[in-house]
Amino acid sequence: MADCIFCKIAAKEIPATVVYEDQLVLAFKDLEPQAPFHALVIPKKHIESVGTLTPEDKELAGHIMCEVIPAIAKENKLDNGFRVVANTGEDGGQTVKHLHFHVLGGRSMQWPPG
Ligand code: 5GP
Repeated sequence: MADCIFCKIAAKEIPATVVYEDQLVLAFKDLEPQAPFHALVIPKKHIESVGTLTPEDKELAGHIMCEVIPAIAKENKLDNGFRVVANTGEDGGQTVKHLHFHVLGGRSMQWPPG
């Protein structure tokens, strides 16, 4: 999608530190890390948010959750645990309107979030 920064990262028009890539998905380090390990996992195709996922995206969402995120956690030795966050919409604090899952690890997390 034009003017979507994460579409541009997926198209390699904007550089990012890639930690995982396959045909459907890209994961890269967050520009402003909130933990020692902080990556963003995105579908390469533009989907706005968790709120706009449809049953057609079942395979893609399952791939991200069941294969990509566990692989990233294993590769980056997040053996003591990690947090997956999908800020969704305005109240969810989503600032980039391209679906992304934050994967944060390497420190103990607090709850509740702000
Ligand atoms: P959100 O607030 O939408 O849940 O998360 C957006 C995230 O994208 C933020 O953590 C922000 O630091 C990150 N971000 C925004 N622009 C860029 C960019 O150009 N490159 C990278 N690597 N991360 C970005």
